[in-house]
Amino acid sequence: MSRSSETLFDQVCRHARQTSLLRSIEDVLGWDEQTKMPAAGAEHRAEQMALLAGMIHQRRIDPDYGARLAELAEGPLAADLYSDAGATIRRLKRDFDKKAKLPVRLVEELARTTILAQSAWLKARAEDDYASFAPLLEKVFDLKREEADALGGGACRYDALLDDYEPEMRTEDMAAVLSALRAELVPLVEAIVASGRRPDRSILTRGFPIDRQKALGRELAEMIGYDLARGRLDTTGHPFCTTLGPNDCRIAIRYHERDLGSAVFGVLHEAGHGIYEQGLRTDQYGLPLGEAASLGLHESQSRLWENLVGRSRAFWQFAYPKVQSHFPDALADVSLDDFHFAVNDVRPSLVRVEADEVTYNLHILVRFELEQALLDGHLTVADAPAAWNQKYRDYLGIVPPSDAGGILQDIHWSAGLVGYFPTYALGNLYAAQIFAQAEKELGPLAAAMAAGRLRPLRDWLTANVYRQGRRCSAGKLVERLTGRPVSHDALIQDLRTKYEPLYRL
Ligand code: ZN
Repeated sequence: MSRSSETLFDQVCRHARQTSLLRSIEDVLGWDEQTKMPAAGAEHRAEQMALLAGMIHQRRIDPDYGARLAELAEGPLAADLYSDAGATIRRLKRDFDKKAKLPVRLVEELARTTILAQSAWLKARAEDDYASFAPLLEKVFDLKREEADALGGGACRYDALLDDYEPEMRTEDMAAVLSALRAELVPLVEAIVASGRRPDRSILTRGFPIDRQKALGRELAEMIGYDLARGRLDTTGHPFCTTLGPNDCRIAIRYHERDLGSAVFGVLHEAGHGIYEQGLRTDQYGLPLGEAASLGLHESQSRLWENLVGRSRAFWQFAYPKVQSHFPDALADVSLDDFHFAVNDVRPSLVRVEADEVTYNLHILVRFELEQALLDGHLTVADAPAAWNQKYRDYLGIVPPSDAGGILQDIHWSAGLVGYFPTYALGNLYAAQIFAQAEKELGPLAAAMAAGRLRPLRDWLTANVYRQGRRCSAGKLVERLTGRPVSHDALIQDLRTKYEPLYRL
């Protein structure tokens, strides 16, 4: 077909797919940077990334493309609420309108400032010197405020930023569901601490040769359905999952000889993200129906496989003998029950990324509440460390001895990721609600997991979640699928069912 005979819809899709192709080149460079690139290559890589980022932004706000989209959005294709084409047009139009509101100057200034802020953050964290980072953090929040105003989030600035990660989610609704969660979690954590029961965590730190851990990692990833023929498992400093193309979704994790849990739950988590990506429609690659609905929904899939499957006793009934066969010296004398208790150790700690599944959401609450206050100007950057420590005391009963182990622990704010944190907690809520619905439709899953039969669950998720792409918002998808809006109920129910017997509450 010649260009001239292409329909308007085809032209718009070609433009959007080519933008996605460029984005995937950015992702190839990003994967290389995090797995293979020598540190000396960083400067040249930053130049490559900046050039690509500029090209991608230009394509996204291209006026011809915008005009074609506007024409399509008025036409009959877009009005069809059920067709793929209608959903595609509506989503592309929404993306365009949002990006087009951002002045190029602001996009560039944010890029420059966050690069500087990230290196200031790295140094401040290493030297436990919050004051040296504070001016850049202030600059980042100033720019994010400007961004929120440009996007016009209505009465609430945070709405505009949250929408980047969780489209159509409102701050008010997010806050309501998270504070209901907090009201249940704080006393649950207190009861667990007061129980005096503690698993023997030392069984996970006995010494596990890295090459055996790598073999186990591949086995576990494949066991839950991550397809290594369309992916890879590599080693990195910070675990991640990235998609480079319709048949190329890669995961990477880290290994520590004296911490088996890091690799085991790292791989289950990242493979969970990978299973979502590998379950997307390849015929829609580069278009909204071939993309994940939101960060919260993405995280729900990593958490579902990591926690609801991967920390269940049923799963380990099947998988633990395989772990033992990899590490006969370390684990021959460790029972299934002791292993299961050790991987479900709950205790308040200071570091989010090392938190267990019960206390984890309280770490998120602290960040969610503080970043809203910083954005609104209710809290100054100078007062933020004290506010951080107070919230840790209130929610977790512990106080960081230093800012390095407190407010300086996460990269997000320095990278301009404001509004990102709550999607982690939302992922846990979505996961529990989706898993409960799967059990309602498929029947209890414990017996299947104990037999290593995970295919029915994966197929159900593929049909009901993955292949829906971005047809509607994640919140709507979960509501339609489970019959109710997202709430804390299913997660609290799961946590009680598991932890009350473990800690004899
Ligand atoms: Zn994740």
